[in-house]
Amino acid sequence: MKVRNKIPCSAERLGLLDPQMIQSVADGNAFNIGRQYAAENRVRIVEADDSQISSAVIGNSGLYEQTIRLKDGHLLSKCSCALPEEPMCRHCIAVLLEYHRWVQPRQPQKSTVAKSAQAPPKPEPSAGGKTSMTQSSAPDVKLSEVLPFLEWLRPAMHALETGTAVPDAPQFGPGDLSAWIQVIKNQEHRRRESEDALIGFESKMRDREAYIGRLTQQLQVSIAETKTAQETLQLTQLEVDEYKEILAHVAELAGEVVRHDGQVRAAASELLSRSSQLNTLTGSFKDLAETLKSASSKRPAK
Ligand SMILES: [Zn+2]
Repeated sequence: MKVRNKIPCSAERLGLLDPQMIQSVADGNAFNIGRQYAAENRVRIVEADDSQISSAVIGNSGLYEQTIRLKDGHLLSKCSCALPEEPMCRHCIAVLLEYHRWVQPRQPQKSTVAKSAQAPPKPEPSAGGKTSMTQSSAPDVKLSEVLPFLEWLRPAMHALETGTAVPDAPQFGPGDLSAWIQVIKNQEHRRRESEDALIGFESKMRDREAYIGRLTQQLQVSIAETKTAQETLQLTQLEVDEYKEILAHVAELAGEVVRHDGQVRAAASELLSRSSQLNTLTGSFKDLAETLKSASSKRPAK
């Protein structure tokens, strides 16, 4: 056991440390776990008074012992665990929360005692003396049950640490030892649940990976298709350009045809007018020939 830390503390009695005050000095994560431990009934207070608590807590991998003292305006905490939580480990936090819950209902009664005890200026650990709390928990443990319990506790803790099945517990009547066994069994149950959750999570991960694999394949196919489509598009574009050129050429030709058509029409109409002039001329020549013929026939023969 090592002295973890000295925390300046204005409370005159350990029972006055309420959860808010504990939370304000503790590490957030350690506080949450400590609160859970207290709620799960894992704390056993062996001995306590206004200035000192001796206790034990069932942690996740063993049983730890704590000593918490209030001395000269400082809170001193020791725990047998090796957790680096500062300034107090989760076990000490759980103990303080459990102790506060313990003394809570007696608070009004105690405060009158405290006031009378406050009259002398120096805080004295003997004020109020050992409370009846130790006695309230002590009768729950029968001496005849302690040995079988301890015999069971060691393999049970080992099973919790190694993840194997916790051995069947000896049957005890209602009391602290049964409660402790229940806590350990709950712990095992929770471990199994988290193992199941882990297996479920792993299979979900595998499904997800397979899904991503399929998506990747589809994506690759899509990319290949897009590439082909781009190539086709480029070819089509080239063809379209060619067609455009041909079309422009055709339009040019058509314009020329129209121009030629006009020329042909003009030539044709000119030809027509020439031919009519020719007809008229032919008619005139015919007339002249007739006139000449008749004139020669009328001339008297000599
Ligand atoms: Zn601890």
